[in-house]
Amino acid sequence: MQKRIQTDENIKSYRQQMPNIPESEILPITAEINYEGRLSLGGCDIRSLVEEYGSPLYIYDEDTLRDICRDFVGSFTAEYPDTHIEYSSKAFANPTVLKIVEEEGLDMDVVTGGELAVAIASDFPGERMNFHGNNKGREELVEALEYGIGLITLDSFAEIDLLNKVAGDLGKKQQVMLRLSPSIDPHTHMLTSTGILDSKFGFSIETGDAEVAVKKAIEKENLDVVGVHFHLGSPIFELEPYSEAIDYVLKFVSEMRDKYGLELKRFSPGGGFAIGYVTDTLPPSMSDYAKEIADAIRKGCDTYGLDEPTVSVEPGRAIVGRAGVAVYTVGGIKTIPDVRTYVSVDGGMGDNIRPALYESEYAVVPVDRPVADRNQTVTVAGKFCESGDVLARDVDLPNVETGELLALPASGAYCLMMASNYNMQTRPAVVMVKDGKVRLIRRRETYRDLLVSSLDLD
Ligand SMILES: *Cc1c(COP(=O)(O)O)cnc(C)c1O
Repeated sequence: MQKRIQTDENIKSYRQQMPNIPESEILPITAEINYEGRLSLGGCDIRSLVEEYGSPLYIYDEDTLRDICRDFVGSFTAEYPDTHIEYSSKAFANPTVLKIVEEEGLDMDVVTGGELAVAIASDFPGERMNFHGNNKGREELVEALEYGIGLITLDSFAEIDLLNKVAGDLGKKQQVMLRLSPSIDPHTHMLTSTGILDSKFGFSIETGDAEVAVKKAIEKENLDVVGVHFHLGSPIFELEPYSEAIDYVLKFVSEMRDKYGLELKRFSPGGGFAIGYVTDTLPPSMSDYAKEIADAIRKGCDTYGLDEPTVSVEPGRAIVGRAGVAVYTVGGIKTIPDVRTYVSVDGGMGDNIRPALYESEYAVVPVDRPVADRNQTVTVAGKFCESGDVLARDVDLPNVETGELLALPASGAYCLMMASNYNMQTRPAVVMVKDGKVRLIRRRETYRDLLVSSLDLD
């Protein structure tokens, strides 16, 4: 049974122990042990939030989100003043989050008409938006141009032709960037590497496609080629892949300037900035990334005789990842002697497919007793009908009991956005917390939601 911790002595001692929670560097910055001895975020007791909004529950901490936005803007503009931070909204496209990101002065990226619709519903200014993706449809391009999107990043020869046509039909000249593939391995998971030669993304410099694309796009009368872009993959824990790719791409740009008159007004080395998922693998600081990138751009421009362009970086994961925490309730516990103990929770691959898809690792914090001795090694499994539906393998926890809550830090990016209704499971509610107050930013799905499209309900 849970012991309630209420004396002043105990509160004080628990507060003092907070730094000793191994996860404090990967949890939101407002994470605390509260008067009950439980984990709280944004001044809100997690157990009370679950009692109110149900389980599983995704909790976003507003202070962490804003703090990270400011860290990005501050770190990058300190190193290279003419930098735009474009939030890659595929990490978590939610109107409340977009509002905050906009207020903090960030631009944003979309990759589909759906993300564009979320941006439009959030009144995100079109001129501060960039449309990425390797296969944009005609309708999507029309929607983007009608909204007055600032930039479109082109990714294939078919897209160059299509956008030129769409822009012409709408009587517009569209600013575009070209996505290049620099054949650089960022040493992340194979499925999240995007800038290597064998990738569906980008015009390869190595194969000569990039040169053909530059020539072709410059000739199109309804396109205004303002620069180039690359994105190496994610999460990238190393700094060198950025500077290596920047040098290679800027060299290519200088060749294209000499051959075709390409002008580099804008340049983007993409996103991919890492976050801490587990406590023993922490990423470089934002200012480390900023310095590496800014230095490489200045050096490259100097070496190849280019004017210093406006720069945009495109963080997704690093903006929202740490701000979000997923909370689950423990159900069945199965011990296989000398093999493994499975602790099953009420969510899993339906709301977070990353461990199944990329073998991603997560830390697990026992919400009800975060400082208790973690004397048992268990595997936290989901409730979906797949053996691969495991959220965290071999994590140390106290002797877990049915009904207790487990929190997975760093669940703010690419969890709910990749969520599915597999097994007709409803997707979780999402709340945002700040200063002891909570607001629902996405309600839990209902069975009715699951039937709306197949029974053609209103
Ligand atoms: C996904 C993506 C990003 C964001 O990646 P993160 O790892 O979330 O920072 C940035 N740019 C492009 C083009 C992307 O596809």
